Amino acid sequence: MKFDQKFPDADEGFEPKDLLVFKSSKEQPCAMCKENTSWINLCFEANVCSEECLDALWKEYNDCCVRDE
Ligand SMILES: [Zn+2]
Repeated sequence: MKFDQKFPDADEGFEPKDLLVFKSSKEQPCAMCKENTSWINLCFEANVCSEECLDALWKEYNDCCVRDE
């Protein structure tokens, strides 16, 4: 589901629990599907528009936030 649909009333800076994303003030293309979105993943600092794209991003970078370098 798109974060915009999941959190329709989210204000700028809103961080849903456990998702490691927040809503920024400007839209940029999603890292996975290239659709414009204002949601950004905190871990990768990459734009992600939906839970599906976030999952895909995690799969691509599954060692991010675990590595301690
Ligand atoms: Zn996307």
